[in-house]
Amino acid sequence: MNAALHSSVCCPSCDARIASWPQHRLVQCCERCLRPMLMLRVKAKPFKLYRLIRLFAAVRMVLALLASVLLVALAAQLLPLAWIVGASVAAFALQGVTDLADGLLGLRSGHMRSGQRPHLGAAARRQSLIKCAVGLLLIGLAFFGLLLR
Ligand SMILES: [Zn+2]
Repeated sequence: MNAALHSSVCCPSCDARIASWPQHRLVQCCERCLRPMLMLRVKAKPFKLYRLIRLFAAVRMVLALLASVLLVALAAQLLPLAWIVGASVAAFALQGVTDLADGLLGLRSGHMRSGQRPHLGAAARRQSLIKCAVGLLLIGLAFFGLLLR
């Protein structure tokens, strides 16, 4: 069963209106831009409030936090170097897969958002190709890092 949403609920990636959301589901893809959205519950009373965020943006935030922790651990020599290399490889691989998926979805849908600016049509496809290239580069660097271990 789908839950009806307020008429002003929009996709955080392309601003398309979202009419319904399946109950008990945390992730759903936008019908227009095909990007996955994550529904988070915001603590509020007396009503239940929810917030939609871009799943790829959430992954990037987690990776930025991981990179910060790795830098501190590297500077303070808290972890063995092999652990830091392993975590860096995992972060590169996850970022690469995220960028590649975002680029492929941009090519398929014709919608791309870089920063706060949405792109459509040819500009979106150009941005999507760049994103695919960056994703493949990061995945390649992750494989190179695996060879170093
Ligand atoms: Zn969308």
